[in-house]
Amino acid sequence: LRSPSRTFHGNNRLLTFQITSHYESINQGEKEVPEYFNFASDVLDKWTQLEKVGRKPANPAFWWVNDKGEEVKWSFEEFGSLSKKTANVLSEACGLRRGDRIVAILPRVPEWWLLNVACMRAGIVLFPGTSQLTAKDILYRLQASKAKCIVTNDTLAPAVESVLSGSEFLKSKLIVGQGSRDGWLNFKELLAVASADHICIKTRSHDPMLVYFTSGTTGFPKMVLHSYSSYGIGFATTGRRWLDLTPSDVMWNTSDTGWAKSAYGSVFSPWICGACVFIHNLPQFQPEVIGQTLSKYPITTFCTAPTGFRMLVQHDMSRYRFPSLKHCVTGGEALNPEVFSQWRTQTGVDIHEGYGQTETVAICANLKGMKIKPGSLGKPVPPYDVQIVDEHGAVVPQGEEGTIAVRVKPTRPFCLFSEYLDNPEKTAATLCGDFYLTGDRGFMDKEGYIWFVGRADDVINSAGYRIGPFEVESALMEHPAVVEAAVVSSPDPVRGEVVKAFVVLAPLYESRDQKKLALELQQHVKKVTAPYKYPRKVEFVKELPKTVTGKIQRNVLRGKEWAKV
Ligand code: ATP
Ligand code: MG
Repeated sequence: LRSPSRTFHGNNRLLTFQITSHYESINQGEKEVPEYFNFASDVLDKWTQLEKVGRKPANPAFWWVNDKGEEVKWSFEEFGSLSKKTANVLSEACGLRRGDRIVAILPRVPEWWLLNVACMRAGIVLFPGTSQLTAKDILYRLQASKAKCIVTNDTLAPAVESVLSGSEFLKSKLIVGQGSRDGWLNFKELLAVASADHICIKTRSHDPMLVYFTSGTTGFPKMVLHSYSSYGIGFATTGRRWLDLTPSDVMWNTSDTGWAKSAYGSVFSPWICGACVFIHNLPQFQPEVIGQTLSKYPITTFCTAPTGFRMLVQHDMSRYRFPSLKHCVTGGEALNPEVFSQWRTQTGVDIHEGYGQTETVAICANLKGMKIKPGSLGKPVPPYDVQIVDEHGAVVPQGEEGTIAVRVKPTRPFCLFSEYLDNPEKTAATLCGDFYLTGDRGFMDKEGYIWFVGRADDVINSAGYRIGPFEVESALMEHPAVVEAAVVSSPDPVRGEVVKAFVVLAPLYESRDQKKLALELQQHVKKVTAPYKYPRKVEFVKELPKTVTGKIQRNVLRGKEWAKV
């Protein structure tokens, strides 16, 4: 396959770049946030117009493949037309009105992208959920969202049916699949006969658009409400400067559709840049499939979670050739410098790490063109003014540890979430003085780079020393025996708490004498970092507890340690 970038005509550059530049200048604070904004009509339909008159590189808007060799490729015009039909299905067959809510629990199928944009067109508030949810989780989401409609597939329909008696708000159910199912409307059948005439509703920038659930790494997931402009405009700088996207590029982000990272990397950032959203409907994260896909398709930017990169470098990616790949990004969890350097050795490409939350767009990132400091979160991404603050909301001196925070006074950044739905106490608790608090600990270096220490609850306090798990884990990972590590506090009669490392070993080391190996790892950490941080306890485990997004759940390990007391 030919790389679309080679079909790009230089003289189109100015026109196509004007769309992204316009929204970037809003991110930079040079232009006002418009009173009215809708991503479907103001961004996607604009790309369709440029595409029609040949002023955009011949690059699809959406390119989907699966493990059976099936492929879907849509231009902006095709995608636009199908999303209008989908909007009509939602309004007519499902009876949804502006402001109504819909829960979508789907794997990475093309219909999920159609629903996203159809909801914008019709003013329906979308609540995506991961397809790994159980019946109990689905019930919680249906009740919490008060959704009038649910969209899911054949696999999950029985789970939805098992909780219907508790879902008093639900009026209609839409199934994405073949054949009919009692009590369900069939999406594909309705789409086939729907009209493509639809006038996108006019939405104010701050109208509610989308609600994502947080990953639930530290507790029950929170419902995070975003407006039309927050995610809709807020990813312009991310797309252009962090993900390095232009209308000639093809972006592949592996996230599940249930997490905000799919909005970051598979909807708003690529499309505000006019780039192609590439999707592989991976049933599982298999390094071979990732390697083959990056070899076969003209993917220029690749994003996966740090856990994904850890698995990929273990598999050894130097056995593949990636002809189009020029840029890699990650976020959602800390990327260990060791993984960064192995990826570069194996593929020749740097990983640009970024940091953000469901509640925000990217807060910090190692933007393109910046010197990358492996292990750092990079620098603040406009419009955010990121500072490190103490418990009173005062900015701490450079180099000192504190809470990573975003300035919200005098003006709350337009791309920060509106609120936690139905939870004013939790919303209020995120504010302190002039700042929104992320709940993460970090520090800023002399050059303005932010460094992640750990989630506030994960920081260990041993004999008066504060120790961030990430630094110790990264030190452990520099040892060839260590594939993955999680560092948590563990009770100690003398010191109160000490550092304990849970370590997953590389296969070659599994049969080694564990006592000796533990000692060796302790010596290694003392050598590569401040000795007081070394893990006084080491336990070898087969795997680490993780969220479905692949984040290490240190709170689970910590809970077990302290439960033993
Ligand atoms: P919950 O809020 O439900 O406990 P969560 O915080 O994991 O879950 P997300 O919004 O998906 O939910 O994740 C945001 C968090 O992920 C950040 O607050 C931070 O702790 C972590 N994170 C994101 N990017 C990075 C990064 N580059 N390095 C370290 N941590 C990161
Ligand atoms: Mg969180």
